[in-house]
Amino acid sequence: MRLFECGTLVPGCKWHARAEDDAEVVRRAVEHLRETHGETVVRENMVDNIKQRIRDDAKAA
Ligand SMILES: [Zn+2]
Repeated sequence: MRLFECGTLVPGCKWHARAEDDAEVVRRAVEHLRETHGETVVRENMVDNIKQRIRDDAKAA
């Protein structure tokens, strides 16, 4: 499983996404950023920022 923790991008946020592949994690993260953090325009560099912070979730292996 792959894991993205929003707190690595938005300090203090406890939200996280866990999925089988990076594309799904990115999709959920973008949705969360739009809904919770008001990012109505998701730029390419935001997707890059998310991808750079995705890591393997050891606990769910
Ligand atoms: Zn967040």
